[in-house]
Amino acid sequence: MKISQLGEFGLIDALKKFAPVSKDVIKGIGDDAAVLPFSQDKYLLLTSDMLAEGTHFSRRMPPQSIGHKALACNISDIAAMGGYPTFAVISIGIPKDLPVSFIKDVYKGIQLLARAYNVSIVGGDTIKTKKIVINIALLGLVEKKNLITRDGASPNDWVFVTGALGGSFKSGRHLNFLPRLAQARFLIEKFPPSAMIDISDGLSGDLNHILKASKVGSRLDYASIPLHKGVSITQALNDGEDFELLFTLARHRACSLMDWQLRQKSFYFYPIGVITADIHEKIDAKSFTHFK
Ligand code: ADP
Ligand code: MG
Repeated sequence: MKISQLGEFGLIDALKKFAPVSKDVIKGIGDDAAVLPFSQDKYLLLTSDMLAEGTHFSRRMPPQSIGHKALACNISDIAAMGGYPTFAVISIGIPKDLPVSFIKDVYKGIQLLARAYNVSIVGGDTIKTKKIVINIALLGLVEKKNLITRDGASPNDWVFVTGALGGSFKSGRHLNFLPRLAQARFLIEKFPPSAMIDISDGLSGDLNHILKASKVGSRLDYASIPLHKGVSITQALNDGEDFELLFTLARHRACSLMDWQLRQKSFYFYPIGVITADIHEKIDAKSFTHFK
């Protein structure tokens, strides 16, 4: 069978069978980050994301932005678990004719974001490749009581997103977005979500990840999905690379959050639908997946 027939998630499922996990692993493959033992009151989080020339970026794009994105999508995954980022290693594959200034500028982008989000860069690997590849693996920590996974959504929970969606690639937003760490940390303190994921593939596909893991369905109010200027609802559902957080909140918490939002202006969370008990109630996902 060809990889294109399996698709990205079919392939990951097939590979999962060859991924041994000890009993110490709290959560392995299947969420935004792995959840591992750390201390009495905290879990260690581990995530990794890879960017490749030709797939995610081209050499015509600003190298600083490429570096920014490489770290930002990892921080976004840690935020989606309710945690905060700590230490990272960076592995690069670079062609031998690449100007040194290009890769230095990639690192400048990483450095700026790492400083802003308190991430220490502590190692990596460097090899020669035909096209540029950047992989970052990032550790984070989360207080045990604050861990949020994809499988906690229940019927009648409300569905929220942290910001406008769609058109991320065309507009260049996919290169300069800021991970919603402060919003996630605010939520876990004040209005703890029942499930959360970051929107990397697209609202439709990423919501379906929550629905599948939580064994529930959802009904969206399409008119209330916040759109970027000039973006259609179809684009908002499927474009991906928004890196907004998508989360569910128990109804009573959702009502308190809406009430809080009437009085406060620091963050805004957009209610876009409800979770239902019918697992067949979901959007026909056409969002991004590799190989299809
Ligand atoms: P995200 O978009 O949040 O970064 P992905 O959709 O890339 O997550 O991955 C989904 C899950 O599959 C994650 O738990 C990730 O660690 C795991 N995964 C992805 N690729 C592989 C792989 N090649 N081997 C093992 N696990 C993988
Ligand atoms: Mg993610």
